[in-house]
Amino acid sequence: MGSMEDTQRFLILLVDDSTENLDFLNGALRNDYDVIIARDGNQALRTVSRKKPDLILLDIVMPLMDGYEVCSELKNNPDTVNIPVIFLTGLANQLDKSRGFNLGAVDYITKPFNIVEVKARVKNQLLINQARHLLEKQNKELESEVSERTRQLSQVQENLEATEDKFRILFRRSVNAIAFCQPVFDVQGRLIDFIYQDVNANFEKIVSLKRTDLIGKKESEVFSAPDPVWLETLRETVKGNVDSLFELNHRGMDKYILGSSFNITPDGSSFAIVLNDITERNLYQNQLIQAKEKAEESDRLKSAFLTNISHEIRTPLNGIIGFSQLMKQENISYSTKEHYIKIIEKCSRNLVSVIDEIIEFSHIESNDYTLNYTIINLNRFIENRLAFYREERERMGKGEIELLSQFACNDGEDQFVTDRDRLKRILDNLLSNALKFTDKGTIKAGYRINRKKNSLTIFVKDSGRGISPQKMEIIFKSFRQVEEGYSRDYGGIGLGLAISKKITGQLGGDIEVNSRLGKGSTFSLKLPYSSGLEEATNNKSVTYLSESSDFLRGKSCLIVDKNNFSSETLIRLLKLKDMNWTITHNLEEARRLCRVNPEIDLVMINKESIDEDLSTVPTALMSFHREISILLLGNPLLLFEKEQYLEWGFKDIITRPIEPDQLYSSLIKCFQG
Ligand code: ADP
Repeated sequence: MGSMEDTQRFLILLVDDSTENLDFLNGALRNDYDVIIARDGNQALRTVSRKKPDLILLDIVMPLMDGYEVCSELKNNPDTVNIPVIFLTGLANQLDKSRGFNLGAVDYITKPFNIVEVKARVKNQLLINQARHLLEKQNKELESEVSERTRQLSQVQENLEATEDKFRILFRRSVNAIAFCQPVFDVQGRLIDFIYQDVNANFEKIVSLKRTDLIGKKESEVFSAPDPVWLETLRETVKGNVDSLFELNHRGMDKYILGSSFNITPDGSSFAIVLNDITERNLYQNQLIQAKEKAEESDRLKSAFLTNISHEIRTPLNGIIGFSQLMKQENISYSTKEHYIKIIEKCSRNLVSVIDEIIEFSHIESNDYTLNYTIINLNRFIENRLAFYREERERMGKGEIELLSQFACNDGEDQFVTDRDRLKRILDNLLSNALKFTDKGTIKAGYRINRKKNSLTIFVKDSGRGISPQKMEIIFKSFRQVEEGYSRDYGGIGLGLAISKKITGQLGGDIEVNSRLGKGSTFSLKLPYSSGLEEATNNKSVTYLSESSDFLRGKSCLIVDKNNFSSETLIRLLKLKDMNWTITHNLEEARRLCRVNPEIDLVMINKESIDEDLSTVPTALMSFHREISILLLGNPLLLFEKEQYLEWGFKDIITRPIEPDQLYSSLIKCFQG
């Protein structure tokens, strides 16, 4: 179908049994339209099924099949239902007309035909039909456009929902703690707080609170007023619409937080904070920093150590080498030789003591030892040490210096629980320093007790060269000496007081110095003191030594020593406790005696006089009877050596010079198991 102007012309079917009518109508329409003709109803229907006309002019009154029948056939067929039909009728009859309209006709042309009317009505109907077609087409197009739009819209909707789902999952499952917040402003419009709008699971976790406890609440309500620096950061975010980073110690959460904040809406009415808990990371970082500092300190110590000790090691070594070479000379008198040997011996001893001190220090530094508490009698303990230094004084040629004691308690009331060896180490160090740095006058050692404060102070006071106030702090540090030159004259590598201070700390006390340059120094060792021994023994494993106890009476001891002489003191002390003793000169004999005498309770081996390997001795001796205890007697040992012997099965080590308390407490330990 085309428009009136189209080159394609409308096709009109004329149906009439009158040739006259057909001629007239054909003549009227032929110029403007293509016209086909049918002479009765059947022909008309056949024609229509072959070639679809745009309009049918249908005569009503026809033989066989009238116009109404034809029309109703056409209207019943979906292919032809839309072809407009104009009825051709004789005289105007109202009834006929309404029947035709009811059947679907669109118009009537009344005979006799008026040519203008026919043309006009035909044209009108074609126009109307064309408009209808156009409308239908447009409608269809519109419909399809609408459905396409609807499809697109639902697609967008679906996409939107999918995206929203993704973001929801991202928010809920993020490893970061995320919260959406709404700022709270003061009257001046400054952000002073914020309200939680939504939080994710990790936020709940980081703050250890449920969503329901957070949502709708202010930060200041849930925790405490936000940190001012944090608020400043959030202000920048909200007002300046900038992403900010912050790191803070969130006191409310009790955590170190690394976080960021950014606006969700550009006007800052909603913003997000994303938090990461860096508490542990900070902890590790601090530990790392400490480790690094410690490593640096160790490095510094190592350098100081090398610088400081090289002299101390070289001096005796040079002495040893030098005098050994001198010894090689011929024609030197016996007495000169003896003098050289003495020097070599002295240098060797110095060297050993320097090395011992270094090793002891490293043990203490690495906390590589345990404390061994016993009860001591302070008076005798201090008196013993003073006796030792009186001899030392003679050796040093400082005979005029007086060594005095001052005790706060009478004998018998002077018991004190401590690690005897450690305390001895400290006291020896203080006394040897006092003697070293004093040329005349007195050295006094003793103790005071403050029962109210439960503290015991052991002091060593000298009238020596003194220490300047600036130097008082540093002397307790490793490798530090007041004056290099002066101290060097006296030997020592500056470790004694550092060691003493460490040990004192381990005993739960502290060490202090009071001094005036040129007048003298007082070193005070403050230790916790318990008047009730029971109380003291509660907390520590203490070997209790009762002087009067006859626990040891009748016990049998086998002494293994090459020369009787070196065991004299030992035997005297055993006798004092009514103990039995036998002495034998070698391990072979000791083994035999143990085998045949099951009553031997303990064996004491003098380490210095036996050359054999001692590692298997305790096991061998104990194989005869298990209750036997094996003790080692010898010069002081380094800690690791001591541990070695204990590992081999020695019950304890008794060091020379033998101190009665130490000996008896060791023996009691053996029998107490
Ligand atoms: P060392 O004695 O091996 O040098 P110490 O740690 O025992 O190491 O002592 C450190 C320094 O403290 C000594 O070198 C000395 O300068 C000073 N000092 C220690 N005790 C005294 C004292 N009684 N009188 C004066 N100075 C002392």
